[in-house]
Amino acid sequence: MRELLEKIAAEGEVAADGVLKVDRFLNHQVDPQLMKRIGEEFAVRFRGERPTKVLTLESSGISPALMAAYELGIPLVVARKRRPLTMTGDVYRTEVYSFTKQEANEIIVSRSLLGRGDRVLIIDDFLANGQAALGMVEIIEQAGADMVGIGIVIEKAFQDGGRLLRSRGFRVVSLARIASLDGGAIQFADEVMSR
Ligand code: 5GP
Repeated sequence: MRELLEKIAAEGEVAADGVLKVDRFLNHQVDPQLMKRIGEEFAVRFRGERPTKVLTLESSGISPALMAAYELGIPLVVARKRRPLTMTGDVYRTEVYSFTKQEANEIIVSRSLLGRGDRVLIIDDFLANGQAALGMVEIIEQAGADMVGIGIVIEKAFQDGGRLLRSRGFRVVSLARIASLDGGAIQFADEVMSR
């Protein structure tokens, strides 16, 4: 998605340790027009899988996931990292190790929101080692629902998540793939630049 690549090149900042900071349009300040087009792109790629729900993880996946759900005309379910007082009743839960926070978080989804017969599309902002996505896959499995694909805004192709998920047979669509952040320079993976 050329517009996204240009935005990353213009406004992305490389933080230490292979972390890309996109606080000007995705993670802190959010660009709604860009999110709308990201949602349209995910909808085009995944509509044929007939998803019935989008699942993301709070908080940074919410903006792109909401726009994808809007375009697909289906609800968005946000997996929570802490159980709010208002979330009563039975839940699905699993542990996810956070790449950016370097700690394990429990993620929780109410049993009333996902179940057999659901076809779930996972959307997240970044793919690094794949732990967030695998945690969501685990929740979908607990629900007895089907996972129809994984949509990622920015995949860091130099980390193992993409390989791990694709080797399990999952369909992973990344709108931008980054080959390297070495030396503070953002290098995109060639095949995406040529699209
Ligand atoms: P994974 O679970 O694939 O290792 O990491 C994915 C999660 O970590 C994403 O949900 C995202 O919140 C966060 N993350 C991983 N790498 C980056 C990065 O380079 N920049 C930012 N802003 N978040 C990241």
